[in-house]
Amino acid sequence: MRSRFHLSVTRLFTNISHRLHWSRSSAVDPVLALSSSFEALCINVMMKQVGHIVDGKEVDSVTGKKFVTVNPATEEPLAEVAEAGFEDVDRAVRSARRAFDEGPWTRMSPWERGKLLQHVAEIIQRRSDELALLDALDCGKPLKDNKYGDLPLCVRIFDYYAGVPDKVAGKVFPSEQSLFNYSLREPYGVVAGIVPWNYPFLNSCIKLAPALAAGNTMVLKMAEQTPLSTVELGRICLEAGIPPGVVNIVNGGPETGAALASHPLIDKISFTGSTETGKKILHAAAERIVPTTLELGGKSPSVVFADADQDQAVAGVLFSGFFNAGQICTTGSRLLIEHSIVDPFLEKLAKRTAALRIGDPTSEETDLGPLVDNVQYERVKKYIEVGQSEGAYRYFVGDGSKPSRGYFVSPLIFTQVTPSMRIAQEEIFGPVLSVLTFREESEAIALANSVAYGLAASVWTRDLGRGLRMAKAIQAGMIWTNTVEYWEPSVPYGGQKRSGLGEDFGLEAFHTYTKAKSVFVNLTNSKLVWGP
Ligand code: NAD
Repeated sequence: MRSRFHLSVTRLFTNISHRLHWSRSSAVDPVLALSSSFEALCINVMMKQVGHIVDGKEVDSVTGKKFVTVNPATEEPLAEVAEAGFEDVDRAVRSARRAFDEGPWTRMSPWERGKLLQHVAEIIQRRSDELALLDALDCGKPLKDNKYGDLPLCVRIFDYYAGVPDKVAGKVFPSEQSLFNYSLREPYGVVAGIVPWNYPFLNSCIKLAPALAAGNTMVLKMAEQTPLSTVELGRICLEAGIPPGVVNIVNGGPETGAALASHPLIDKISFTGSTETGKKILHAAAERIVPTTLELGGKSPSVVFADADQDQAVAGVLFSGFFNAGQICTTGSRLLIEHSIVDPFLEKLAKRTAALRIGDPTSEETDLGPLVDNVQYERVKKYIEVGQSEGAYRYFVGDGSKPSRGYFVSPLIFTQVTPSMRIAQEEIFGPVLSVLTFREESEAIALANSVAYGLAASVWTRDLGRGLRMAKAIQAGMIWTNTVEYWEPSVPYGGQKRSGLGEDFGLEAFHTYTKAKSVFVNLTNSKLVWGP
């Protein structure tokens, strides 16, 4: 077991860590730390019983109902997890309600709240290797992506929001001499966080940190495929000293999510997931006019012009198209490429795609792990059949070899794709890249905007003016120019069109967890003059 981790750090590691401005701690031997925590984790996780976190305790479901979470690389069970029905959701929401209405949390100074978030960041940092491994086992995400990408970002997210509570103030408005007029930003109360499996620990941190910084309490539900690291996050919050009831975790699938989104004591919903589920959440929220943030699906383009640095663009298209086996909301699943360079570019791209190492996600040498489960595997296979039946050409990218067990799909490039094909329009959420060509900048813009989604785009060009024109013209919440999949906790991020409402990250996310209150004070004894 130990030798598995005595592997060299690959170029991709360096890329990811560079992207996330990660730096190694010189005090810890990462190999030793990881191997010992891996062994501990194997003992800890294998067929372990995992509960919900409610009111500061780990509890079973009221009915005793459970589900099994599976390792997608081996198809073997990992842990038995308590499944929340309505009563469990109700118990968790009431716990969050009490913690908001009565507990010490809302009476704490903003400075104290920030200190607790800082403590969460420190614990995540200390336990990074173990948490990275947990997502590799439960989700199939390659270990190196978690270890050098997600976990350092999670530390920075809590670190960033730890500094916010005592720095964001209300406003005083210029008004008549007789009036004093100011506004406050107040927490909503109980927030429901509902998140998907593709970045388990990271998706949970993205919701939790700003909601807590703003002074809310939360009931958080991770997707049923990957519950383990989110329950661990609940435990970390308790260890950090966040009072019981402030962070509650419930496990379960769509029914649990629906019970949470429609619970009458929820004051705000923050959802990340598919556009279809987003619509259902919005319907549930409409019943009680509950403010809702939605981070939804995408069909993001990588737009490559002939004047781009070809090697840089190939690396970017490869990374954005196949990183996390294409299971990122911002996956560059459409390559829009200038007609004159298509052949040499695809030749280089296919060569690098064929060299990607598919296999055991707990090995640091792996580039592509499995898809998260059999449902996702069948869905992606179906899209590959659809692409072929629509007349797209399956460009050769190696022998497609992959492990015989587990939900692995070899990366695939489709050429001769037309804009109306389903593989050019619909989110596949797997390692399938659709290639379309253009001759003019205006055609590239039209193609980029020709889908219902508007999440992200990358543009590859040496022409600065063109880069800026494209950034203005593309309808998407995040545009990268000559780089891709770059995130900063301080930089807001959200989707346009059917990719969402509102933002994660930055002070914008903090504000989505607060409501404005305006106060007018009469400074004189003057009376209102109205009526007889
Ligand atoms: P999904 O919508 O099926 O599930 C997401 C979450 O919603 C899960 O926790 C699930 O249990 C819950 N859920 C399902 N049905 C529900 C219902 N009726 N009511 C309440 N909750 C319900 O999404 P998925 O397919 O598992 O995840 C992948 C999707 O997430 C993709 O579309 C991807 O683009 C999107 N995503 C978006 C972002 C972003 O920031 N925009 C980030 C990551 C993933």
